[in-house]
Amino acid sequence: MSKIIAINAGSSSLKFKLFEMNTEQVLAQGLFDRIGLAQGAIKIKYGADEEFKTNEEIKDHSYAVKRLLGLMLNLEIIHEFSEIKGVGHRVVAGGEYFKRSVAINSKVIRKINSLAEYAPIHNPANLMGIKAFKKILPTATAVAVFDTSFHQTMPKENYIFSVPYEWYQKYGVRRYGAHGTSHRYVADVAASMLKRPLKELKLISCHLGAGASICAIKNGKSFDTSMGFTPLTGITMATRSGDTDVAMIAFMMQKLDMHSMPEAIYDLNKKSGLLGISGVSSDMRDVMEESTTNSRAQLAVDIFVKDIVKYIGSYTAEMGGVDGIIFTAGIGENSAEIRSAVLKRLSYMGIEVDEEKNLLRGENIVISTSSSKVKALVIPTDEELMIARDVDKIMKKKNVKSAKLV
Ligand code: ADP
Repeated sequence: MSKIIAINAGSSSLKFKLFEMNTEQVLAQGLFDRIGLAQGAIKIKYGADEEFKTNEEIKDHSYAVKRLLGLMLNLEIIHEFSEIKGVGHRVVAGGEYFKRSVAINSKVIRKINSLAEYAPIHNPANLMGIKAFKKILPTATAVAVFDTSFHQTMPKENYIFSVPYEWYQKYGVRRYGAHGTSHRYVADVAASMLKRPLKELKLISCHLGAGASICAIKNGKSFDTSMGFTPLTGITMATRSGDTDVAMIAFMMQKLDMHSMPEAIYDLNKKSGLLGISGVSSDMRDVMEESTTNSRAQLAVDIFVKDIVKYIGSYTAEMGGVDGIIFTAGIGENSAEIRSAVLKRLSYMGIEVDEEKNLLRGENIVISTSSSKVKALVIPTDEELMIARDVDKIMKKKNVKSAKLV
């Protein structure tokens, strides 16, 4: 029996999901929050419906990992550390170097470190997780799974910005995209739901969470995506502006007496999007609730829907058609209203929604009618499962290699 743990380490948090890989059953999942801060919090769900919760100081990532594995023994989720054969780490920025998930060695660690300038908060945090697990589970296969690697298949015309070319050559400025693990996962599931080979499909995946991105997936490969050099571009998000005019920033810096560019970029990242437009909340549920009585909240919802419609139209044109549109993540999975609003505006493509199916939740479901020319699907994302599957694949390959050596 092979257990694999998927890890998402942030600067002050560590999320995990432990899988029994033969069945892909989730044995435990949870969160270590407020690492290095006052009042740390631990939450672990396991077994049939059991939960462990406590508040205590979690001084650093190394302590969090030690405590996590100790708790797994105490709660009898595992009986010894060695049961965990593989550890998959989410890494935010893989640059152009990492085109797929890789087994972690010291060269990979150095490379992730050197890519930190593309994700100054995330990559160092991801590395803390990697190092902490390596210390405590030295023999488990550690694998890095990058948010960006899925998008490395984009054609050049879709990743080069229309700026001086030397910016790309000298500094690596280009579209890297994000949410790659999620887009890759839902595309795989969509192909099996549509009973067609992924290689023959043109899909558009809408990952609509607090962060949101749209991805055109042609023949199983990322063809274009809405996030750019950073996750700031694309559609309107919870607090991010999405696409905007950068020259406006210079104008606003003067008006608001801002002294540095990062200060202005902070407003585009943290005070814009649904929050900025509505003035109500960054949470789509709150914004939608207010929208019946508050015109700015309604405007925020309208802009969100329009942005999705615009990207789907543009990606359909770029790919020369589309077979399926996928909705995933918090808003995509849960809001029948947003899905319906988007798809109604796409009826010109021959999309017909089955409104009864559209109301279902929590499962993989085709929400278009059987006669709909383009299929619409809701697929709950599972980035952790994708990470664990990558670890499993790499472990199996490694076994083949060592078998050959013998
Ligand atoms: P994150 O990017 O943080 O992982 P999630 O994928 O959890 O985000 O998505 C969070 C978003 O999903 C929030 O804006 C939340 O309001 C929205 N959401 C969750 N349930 C619903 C719902 N029933 N209707 C509309 N929005 C929802």
